[in-house]
Amino acid sequence: MSIEQEGRRVPVYLDYAATAPVEPRVAQRMAEVLAMPPGNAAANHAAGQAAQALVEAARAQVAALIGANPADIVFTSGATESNNLAITGTARAALARGGKPHVITLATEHKSVLEPVRALESQGVAVTILRPDASGLLDAATLAAAIRPGTCLVSLLHVNNETGVAQDLAAVLRVCAEHHVPLHVDASQSAGKLPLDVAGIALLSFTAHKLGGPQGIGALYVAPAHRGCIQAQQLGGGHERGLRAGTLATHQIAGFGLACELAAQRREVEAARLRALRDRLWLALRDLPGAMLNGHPEARAPGILNVTFAGVEGESLFAGLEELTLSTGSACNSRSGEPSYVLRALGRDTAQAQSSLRVSLGWASTDDDISTAIAAVQRVHTLLWNQSPARPVPLQGWEGVADGHVLGEAGALRLGTWVRFAALLENGRVKEARVQVYGCPHTAAACRHVLARLPGQPLAALAPGTPEEWRVAVTAPVEKLGQMLIIEDALAALCRGQITRT
Ligand SMILES: *Cc1c(COP(=O)(O)O)cnc(C)c1O
Repeated sequence: MSIEQEGRRVPVYLDYAATAPVEPRVAQRMAEVLAMPPGNAAANHAAGQAAQALVEAARAQVAALIGANPADIVFTSGATESNNLAITGTARAALARGGKPHVITLATEHKSVLEPVRALESQGVAVTILRPDASGLLDAATLAAAIRPGTCLVSLLHVNNETGVAQDLAAVLRVCAEHHVPLHVDASQSAGKLPLDVAGIALLSFTAHKLGGPQGIGALYVAPAHRGCIQAQQLGGGHERGLRAGTLATHQIAGFGLACELAAQRREVEAARLRALRDRLWLALRDLPGAMLNGHPEARAPGILNVTFAGVEGESLFAGLEELTLSTGSACNSRSGEPSYVLRALGRDTAQAQSSLRVSLGWASTDDDISTAIAAVQRVHTLLWNQSPARPVPLQGWEGVADGHVLGEAGALRLGTWVRFAALLENGRVKEARVQVYGCPHTAAACRHVLARLPGQPLAALAPGTPEEWRVAVTAPVEKLGQMLIIEDALAALCRGQITRT
């Protein structure tokens, strides 16, 4: 879906795993509900009953998506809150019963699972964080071995939001049932996309904005058998069977309900359509040198593709893809500045994690979107690959001319910056210079800036300016001075280099 807005081309949206556009029919429904007379679903009068009727109709739509009884759905503000309520609520209830409860989860879970689990650790709960295999899957035997007396919850993502890897829920459920341990599933990325049935599951979280509904509304399914094993975390007027206090957001809930119904209606057709789009994209990208699929090749959701492009620098790759809106495993994209812990857990090193792209598709994605994505990634990748350390030193045309050439390099892939200059010499002066660079766009720009100043200079006394001057010339922030120093190191190596006949 590429929309023209005020004559400007809006980038193709390929970030459905972060949030999906609201379905027009859902937006319309929400507007209708907002325009109705006021009514609090908890109130006794007619207006309150009207709001309650809307909420209960939506509750039935939401429940139907996961094969649940409507009475077992608790509305929350989204999957983050659902995960917190499921995990903290269950562990605190176990703490209240005495003893030292134990919670098991996976290293590649969403932060809204890992953070409450870590917080519980400081509150007297034992925690086991299992590692997935290199394809991202949790092995059922690994899980079984981690269960012990006192294990009060296993929390597992159904579909991973970064890689699209889909866990074998049936196998995990068998292990949990055998050991009588309740299972919590974060189904934010699978609800409405993969078949889901809550039979046997104690708790299941999902959220409206990943499936065409509005942001800020989600649900937690609580199995009747688990209701006595979970404590409310938000206290007040006892809404949602005492599990989540707060006035119900009628318009949000109505939108969520309709989004669930629409998602259920088109699920199978959409899954096949998105799978075909995703596969077309992967077939076009997999032959790019250094391309590696992240996650299991088959056990995956239809709409998510995560690829590492080894040997090209992530920030430059991302910066070049101006016509696409997508996510990366790179520092510049994830505001934390850290490489993706999910990709690291799958065995990618820091540089590889940062050179990864996640494309996620959904209801408004089109064949044209994929064509745009393929062309953009191929274009930027080719540009970066041609100057990457994986390529031979570019000496074409220098054979037999002048005095020969000299090389100078500095930095390393694992540091995120690497630079190599090659200079053709004539009478001790630089006749022509070339550069290969693996680094951020600022580093690349500074290399080009330096390169333009080398011809004509004596090799013994190169004076292309100072790192600070280059930084200012390419308007790089002060933090990039370190990268500029690597360029200076490469030039110093060039001066010390051995002259070789080309
Ligand atoms: C988006 C997402 C969440 C958080 O959902 P919110 O409704 O934004 O709080 C949790 N888990 C997964 C797997 C997600 O993809």
